[in-house]
Amino acid sequence: MKAYSLPDDHGHFGRFGGSFVAETLVHALDELRDAYEKYRRDPEFLNEYAYELKHFVGRPSPVYHARRWSEQLGGAQIWFKREDLNHTGAHKINNCIGQILLARRMGKPRIIAETGAGQHGVATATVAARYGLECIVYMGSEDVRRQASNVYRMKLLGTTVVPVDSGSRTLKDALNEAMRDWVTNVENTFYIIGTVAGPHPYPQMVRDFQAIIGTECIEQMPVDAGRQPDYVVASVGGGSNAMGIFHPYIDHADVKLVGVEAAGEGLDTGRHAASLNAGVVGVLHGNRTYVMQDENGQIQETHSISAGLDYPGVGPEHAWLKESGRAEYVGVTDQEALAAFHACCRTEGIMPALESSHAIAHAVRLAPTLPKDKIILVNLSGRGDKDMHTVAEFSGITL
Ligand SMILES: *Cc1c(COP(=O)(O)O)cnc(C)c1O
Repeated sequence: MKAYSLPDDHGHFGRFGGSFVAETLVHALDELRDAYEKYRRDPEFLNEYAYELKHFVGRPSPVYHARRWSEQLGGAQIWFKREDLNHTGAHKINNCIGQILLARRMGKPRIIAETGAGQHGVATATVAARYGLECIVYMGSEDVRRQASNVYRMKLLGTTVVPVDSGSRTLKDALNEAMRDWVTNVENTFYIIGTVAGPHPYPQMVRDFQAIIGTECIEQMPVDAGRQPDYVVASVGGGSNAMGIFHPYIDHADVKLVGVEAAGEGLDTGRHAASLNAGVVGVLHGNRTYVMQDENGQIQETHSISAGLDYPGVGPEHAWLKESGRAEYVGVTDQEALAAFHACCRTEGIMPALESSHAIAHAVRLAPTLPKDKIILVNLSGRGDKDMHTVAEFSGITL
């Protein structure tokens, strides 16, 4: 089984993936799969997607040599893929553009999404405004309270934010509520999932829309860096920015792929979001993958300093890449990510998202162990302006 031909017709990546949903959604998912199969080969669709990425998102994003920092570390050369420069400040918009173009072609006027930190909610609200579609975003009421500025951004963009009061009032509860809405309103509603998770065909579709990241790198690296990288490193929440940069490199066998999970306060503390490093195989969000659950099968609360990595599962293709040995997954703690955040600001004049700071922290760990002619390409998935309050709070400063 070759990685780049995955998933199979039923959405399986080895023993992971698939489609575990209520009977009422089977038809909707079949319809989505057929539409996606048709439009992913349709030149008009692909042209419109490329046009939007150029004119609305601002692609291509450059690759950047972190020269000063590489010199200080005295080892491998660190390069960044600058997804932080995209409209709305991260990679999530790439996928939202793709899905909303599909929603329009499928004649679905109503968009729903769920969000934890609010980043996917903002990206979805942005494309809904761009195309004038109704948009409803489910968000745990605890997250609504914690992420007030993203809630306001969504409202400014014309989206209705629905607080979810069940369970722990966080992302997993919002996930359930979004699924419930979809079951009820499946005729006129398109559910935009924000990462490489969910039932088939979402993991494949989101990966394909994010693969623009790696596709650009494959063209840019030989021109700007003289050759392809030795390592590609990316943070993993659900895994979409990582899958996006990994995918075109999977059949470049000598390029090592490293995913970085949030080890929070430490992998042995139970306070983390590292499903691949410390989770078990289970079913979440309509697919089989590694999840954080307790002995009763209940999904556990996750913890990370970076709200965007706080997802209790991981995309099924990552579970397969780990099991097959094609990619490696490591953990970076809150403290290590924070240190990388501060150093990146001061050394390169770039304020990275706390999610991306996890990937950067691993590159900083790796670089001194490698010769100077090696190249580590890090996916700088987003910008850190949104995280200033969190960083200040950790430093004991009130803004
Ligand atoms: C949401 C987010 C992530 C994590 O999501 P993935 O699906 O794992 O990519 C990483 N970086 C940034 C900047 C994000 O907003």
